[in-house]
Amino acid sequence: MVHLVEARHNVSLDDYEGVANLSRAVRDLRQEARSLLPALQGRRVWMINSTSRGGGVAELLPPLVALLRELGVDANWLVMDADEPEFFRLTKRLHNLIHGEGDPNLGETERALYDRVSRDTAAAAAHHVAPGDVLVVHDPQPLGAGAVLRRTKEIAAIWRCHIGLDRKTPETRAAWRFLDACASAYDHAVFTAPEYIPSCLAGRASIIHPGIDPLSHKNRDLSVHKLVGILANGALIRAPGPMLTPPFPQPAERLQRTGNWAPATEPEDIGLLHRPIVTQVSRWDRLKGFLPLMQGFAALKRDLPGKAGLRDGHRRTLQLARLVLAGPDPASIQDDPEGREVLEELRRAYAALAPDLQDDIAIVVLPMSSQKYNALLVNALQRCSDIVVQNSLQEGFGLTVTEAMWKHAAIMGSQAAGLRQQVRPDLDGCLVADPEDPRAIAAALDGLLRDPWRRETLGRSAQQRAYDDFLVFTQVRNWLVLIAETIRARWP
Ligand code: UDP
Repeated sequence: MVHLVEARHNVSLDDYEGVANLSRAVRDLRQEARSLLPALQGRRVWMINSTSRGGGVAELLPPLVALLRELGVDANWLVMDADEPEFFRLTKRLHNLIHGEGDPNLGETERALYDRVSRDTAAAAAHHVAPGDVLVVHDPQPLGAGAVLRRTKEIAAIWRCHIGLDRKTPETRAAWRFLDACASAYDHAVFTAPEYIPSCLAGRASIIHPGIDPLSHKNRDLSVHKLVGILANGALIRAPGPMLTPPFPQPAERLQRTGNWAPATEPEDIGLLHRPIVTQVSRWDRLKGFLPLMQGFAALKRDLPGKAGLRDGHRRTLQLARLVLAGPDPASIQDDPEGREVLEELRRAYAALAPDLQDDIAIVVLPMSSQKYNALLVNALQRCSDIVVQNSLQEGFGLTVTEAMWKHAAIMGSQAAGLRQQVRPDLDGCLVADPEDPRAIAAALDGLLRDPWRRETLGRSAQQRAYDDFLVFTQVRNWLVLIAETIRARWP
């Protein structure tokens, strides 16, 4: 029902501090922690979520818990499970409703199921949680259990909601009506963007942004040799000669003119190492805006011959530029019919393009069998990109953008709420007004491609912003501050 999970994270604060461009962030964190820690002395902190593997929250918790522990906080991680599979179907439904989708009719049956599992989970968690402890509950699944514990024990409880929509709909209202019965028990709630805070929690919620781990395979620095090795081993470039390391077990694959998939080095090298590259890496989800991005890029290329008065450098950049649309291998998304549908839509749109446009657009699937190799391929791809795009129609936060900002890419995003949290327009990147308008996309891409100096300036600012606000250290610091404040308010 509830089990204790070890937070495995094999990088220590000393490791981070040993890296030149991270040492200041770590020193600042340690210093701040010293002043906040007295408030947490003698208290245990429990993070509770519903899975130890897969999904953003399960990835975010190990470094968070491990770094808090290293700083001297008695932080622990509990994972809930439920005997009744209908419970997770209901919480998935609530998840979708918070995103504005699904059937908003939640009745007595749903209430009874949610409350029953919440009571059982609370009873199991009660063996771990003692008076004076602080509970940090992640997402709707354990929300009810946390509420029961907060109402029956002398503890403090914070609810961390990782999801949200930036407008109210009948669906979101239904979800919040249902969840408010539990959320109201908490001392405080945390969201990713102010727009996501429901009225029932207004005044009792604050914002903590997710953070990325700068030494993870997804984000760590890659030497030129490593970068080339990864691209060649993963079949994203043709090996320029004998390679030190063997090919990855599975190659990245590129959609071919025939409609089939072949290693991404076919029918020719994409040109990641020498052409201007525009990239979007995402799940194959309609809300990620892949199709309009492809149409926008195609429009930019089609318009080129008719454009008079372009500088030589500008024209050459547009001639050579290539678009890479990358996402997970469809074999890994068997249980994701929408993913396959989106890929199929892209396949049809690609098949209808003129051959020279097909050469300039690479739809690529990245192998998912090894998390490490997948992460390294995403890392290498982002580092080869002059522009990293996230053309989302909706975006909770958009870690792909955080990752690319850290790698000082020029970002082209949309106005989706999560992206607005990160990218200050024309300072850290550019935000296209309408992600479904290929003309607007083409114009925004052109604005970035024509001006290398602007790309450089935007990229530099983006990296600084990621350093200041979106690395794991800031996240840990914000949690320390919030936990200390919650304790002070709960036990004045
Ligand atoms: N990602 C990946 N491999 C892929 C596609 C995406 O590792 O083939 C990663 C991407 O680097 C990012 C995460 O999946 O870390 C997506 O997070 P984001 O917040 O951008 O969007 P979400 O998928 O949660 O909607």
